[in-house]
Amino acid sequence: MRLAFFDTKPYDIAGFERYAIPAGIEIKYYEPNLTPDTVSLAAGYDAVCVFVNDIVNAEVIQKLYESGVKAIVLRCAGFNNVDIKACQRKLRVFRVPAYSPHAVAEHAMALLLTVNRHTHKAHNRTREFNFSLQGLTGFDLYGKTVGIIGTGKIGRVFANICRGFGMRILAYDKYPDPDTGLDYGELDELFAQSDIISLHCPLTEETNHLINADTISQMKDGVVIVNTSRGGLVDTEDLIQGIKTGKVGAACLDVYEEEGDLFYEDFSGDIVQDDKLVRLIAMPNVIVTSHQAFLTKEALDNIASTTVNNLVSFFSGNPDLNTEVTFQR
Ligand code: NAD
Repeated sequence: MRLAFFDTKPYDIAGFERYAIPAGIEIKYYEPNLTPDTVSLAAGYDAVCVFVNDIVNAEVIQKLYESGVKAIVLRCAGFNNVDIKACQRKLRVFRVPAYSPHAVAEHAMALLLTVNRHTHKAHNRTREFNFSLQGLTGFDLYGKTVGIIGTGKIGRVFANICRGFGMRILAYDKYPDPDTGLDYGELDELFAQSDIISLHCPLTEETNHLINADTISQMKDGVVIVNTSRGGLVDTEDLIQGIKTGKVGAACLDVYEEEGDLFYEDFSGDIVQDDKLVRLIAMPNVIVTSHQAFLTKEALDNIASTTVNNLVSFFSGNPDLNTEVTFQR
């Protein structure tokens, strides 16, 4: 079995080789993303392996199908970048539904602690022997209310972490699960009462720009918004306006709606043309990371083993229906 692997980073290779070689999978690692321009690289392969910013639209899917590719294996949980409807009767799609909810939830808390206690700034200061504390005041997380939108695998771990900090948790989910023991409410209550709002739901048509001027206006003054889910959940322009007026006290962003052409690459020697992202990064109360919440050793290992298992089970005629993504009307 031959696999074309797109958007390869050095840290992907060792983990995948560990599982692919014993399974008899030959992998060709391509650095570029899968896009309409690069899809021809997949010709002659049985499957393609893609990540969060590969473009798997109807055009790409048709070309993959015509070149004999039979399956798309996503090495991530979210699949908003794949046109699942266009895959019907052409390509089977598999993902890694859970590789480490702890990795993402812990990163969300790391961002929240950083932006609140300014540890990134303190570190820079002390490296220059500047021991002033001016401007580094934070607030206790203890006793604060955190609103968690999406209480699946990651949202639940984040809730547990917040519980450990002595925070009050308000939850919202389209499909609330009473077994979580979480205090569920309506979105408007969550917006009105939360000091911190953390997003852990998928990006869908319904959740696109869930955080916008209207919803921000319903929030508490000084609210902290944490997004480790998908950039499209937040209307970036509206977030910037909210921060400029002081309504939003801080933002922690591991994802950004226009991240596709930027994240995972080094532009340190370039003039970045995305003015919204530049504005956000320039704000003292915003912290941006480059979609790295998944990046732990444990998560990388689980991603590789599940992806290889998805391939082996599909090509041996026993596809794993728990990891398959199918079109839902
Ligand atoms: P999950 O499927 O276990 O949980 C998602 C939850 O969102 C479910 O409980 C679901 O009912 C709920 N939901 C669905 N539609 C909703 C809506 N309209 N409003 C509110 N809630 C809704 O997924 P997960 O593993 O917890 O992952 C959550 C998201 O985190 C993924 O969709 C992905 O986009 C993102 N993610 C980001 C990274 C990263 O590196 N930053 C890594 C993994 C996952």
